[in-house]
Amino acid sequence: MVKLSERIGLISPSPTLQLLKIKNTMKKQGKDILDFGAGEPDFPTPEIIKERGIDAIRNNHTKYTPVTGIPELKEAIIKSYMDEQGFQPGEEQIIVTPGSKFGLYLILQAITDPGDEVIVPKPYWVSYPEIVRYSGGNVVYADHLKENSLFELTADSYTEKFSGKTKAVIINSPSNPTGMIMNSEELKKIISACVDKNIFLIFDDCYRRIIYTDENFESPLKLFPDSMENIAIVSSLSKTFSMTGWRLGYTIASEYICKAMAKLQGHSSSNPCSISQKAAVGALLDDQSYLAPMIDEYRERRDFIANRFNEIGNISFVNPEGAFYFFADFTYYINKMGFKDDGDFAMDILNKLNIIVVPGTAFGAPNYLRISYANSLKNIRKGLDKLEEYLKG
Ligand code: PMP
Ligand code: GLU
Repeated sequence: MVKLSERIGLISPSPTLQLLKIKNTMKKQGKDILDFGAGEPDFPTPEIIKERGIDAIRNNHTKYTPVTGIPELKEAIIKSYMDEQGFQPGEEQIIVTPGSKFGLYLILQAITDPGDEVIVPKPYWVSYPEIVRYSGGNVVYADHLKENSLFELTADSYTEKFSGKTKAVIINSPSNPTGMIMNSEELKKIISACVDKNIFLIFDDCYRRIIYTDENFESPLKLFPDSMENIAIVSSLSKTFSMTGWRLGYTIASEYICKAMAKLQGHSSSNPCSISQKAAVGALLDDQSYLAPMIDEYRERRDFIANRFNEIGNISFVNPEGAFYFFADFTYYINKMGFKDDGDFAMDILNKLNIIVVPGTAFGAPNYLRISYANSLKNIRKGLDKLEEYLKG
């Protein structure tokens, strides 16, 4: 056996993706699993998008593409971003990546030197700290677990962590796992602070089309179009268009950032999948009337869970404003039932109820559970009935 690199020793496997493996194994054993772990839409990819993919194969669009994506897709991104956010990026300010996760990876590799600090929100999406560590950077947390302002994405939570070594901040709005949105005032404050100190702001908006508030979602580039040198928008088609397996994301950033990312993409993935790129054009430009009913359904599930949690009692949570996760505090039950921690609690729920949930520790928040409602109302009802009986038992 060869000795593995020190670098690879810095990171651990993705806990959310490991749950997918557990689910598949349990399914193979014939178990009836209720999956509230998955961070992926339960809806199939809309037909209209699939047709575009099939056409791409039939028309032999099956070869290497330009490293940063096909011009047709970049034009679609420019148009859809302009229509939605009133900001028109140039073609050289876009890089299409195999999923937004890879976009984040490329950016952090491109800008981080050993010892640089990157401020990550906490609770965090599981991959942020790992991607930062793998880039050689040090993770510093913006704490959103404060009792009096639970999960609030404030500018202060970031600026209070600024140091001479701060290279970048990551903002995720709507947030995975909390569902919170950073409001425009806070966003303006943090962008100004970053521009002032020449700190790079990475804004992951991959859930931006899945929101339940009436307010318009405002992109940092809409608010500060002249500060693009310090801003990158990392986005994804995975969630909005139920395209997780197609692996299609994009980053909008200054040309110098896109060029740096493209160097690494050119020597790693080469390009995002040619077929997925064609399908993505359809997702962005074709009729999107399927979206509103999906969001309505997520909202209905969210409201249902909020009501049930209140009825069950002793579960504290903040109603999510976007994305499709409940991040709820189960301290009361973990203590009452004598579990060591949320990991043991989640494992017992899996073993006894065949229900998958993600322990909060995976997101830096012990005693919480993340419950994804990217699952049917029928399954959610069934799962919560079982959970209630278990908790009260
Ligand atoms: N950012 C956040 C906050 C996520 O939850 C995910 C989940 N997959 C991603 C990025 C990556 O998504 P993808 O690579 O499928 O675009
Ligand atoms: N982002 C999703 C989640 O949080 C999918 C899995 C992953 O990429 O981490 O569950």
